[in-house]
Amino acid sequence: MKPAVFDYYRPATVEDAVAALGTSETAKVLAGGQSLIPAMNFRLAQPDLLVDIGGVEDLDRLEVGSEGVMIGASVTQSRVMSSDEVAGAVPGLRRALGHVAHLQIRNRGTVCGSLAHADPAAELPALAIACGATMFIRGPAGERTVDAGDFFLGPFWTDLAHGEIITGVHFPSEPAGTVTFLDELAWRAGDFAITGLAAALATGDGTVSGARMVSFGVSGVASRMTGAEQAVLGFAGGDDGSDLYEAAYEDAADAVDDVHATAEYRREALGALVVRNVRAALANGNGRGV
Ligand SMILES: Cc1cc2nc3c(=O)[nH]c(=O)nc-3n(C[C@H](O)[C@H](O)[C@H](O)COP(=O)(O)OP(=O)(O)OC[C@H]3O[C@@H](n4cnc5c(N)ncnc54)[C@H](O)[C@@H]3O)c2cc1C
Repeated sequence: MKPAVFDYYRPATVEDAVAALGTSETAKVLAGGQSLIPAMNFRLAQPDLLVDIGGVEDLDRLEVGSEGVMIGASVTQSRVMSSDEVAGAVPGLRRALGHVAHLQIRNRGTVCGSLAHADPAAELPALAIACGATMFIRGPAGERTVDAGDFFLGPFWTDLAHGEIITGVHFPSEPAGTVTFLDELAWRAGDFAITGLAAALATGDGTVSGARMVSFGVSGVASRMTGAEQAVLGFAGGDDGSDLYEAAYEDAADAVDDVHATAEYRREALGALVVRNVRAALANGNGRGV
């Protein structure tokens, strides 16, 4: 199918982009177009104006500092994945991006576009929550920041108001003694996850002393696994992990049934992913993910 008729505008500044979005109730930001253009072709989205942020110089920055990594809105997933500096500061980013689609899609798709799109089965929203990332947002009322943990509200639904743009996302540097990883179950490599786990575990002394664990692809939104986060404390890999499995299973009580898998399958798979990855993180420092 072809998209409905739309206008196209390529601003040079964030201010211009925000102003253009304000001229129409259905205007949308165009970043890499890897989710938006297919949705338009299927007429699932019919914006009358696309505001292409690819020409805004300020949004093209990828900065690595002692505090972490700042990723501008037009920075592609491939650019982030291929940076050794980024991988040194936030190793989880490269590990997570290895699961996102395929090279050709990552060459166009942006990190911020994936966060704004908020697909419940996408990897980056879950990683952002696990890492404690912060969204930088600009809109008609000015600038604001939102913690990733408060940003994702439901399927394809975020805290963004119409007319607002994510200008960048900041991932804090991985603290010493912490392992950040992502693993998932998908029918084929590069597919969206049927069940996935992103986690940051404090494992400095060989046991887990702190955890942020986030499921994705399980329910309608990437979700903190508060039961598993408690159950994993003190885990050293020595027992059979059944308490941890049960806690993860209970965390996924709102798992969905769909054409890809049943809710029960998702809950069991999440339990298994958690136990295997926590064991692997304790043993090798990077979980089972890529
Ligand atoms: C075949 C295929 C397989 C894929 N597999 C996966 C996968 O396994 N995992 C995964 O996570 N993703 C997958 N994707 C999606 C891909 O990662 C997209 O690149 C990403 O979801 C959206 O990024 P984008 O830059 O292309 O955004 P776009 O498609 O341009 O935009 C997506 C949405 O976000 C909004 N938006 C974009 N940027 C901003 C911004 N800065 N501020 C405010 N709103 C914004 C747009 O208005 C639009 O509503 C796949 C895509 C394809 C085509």
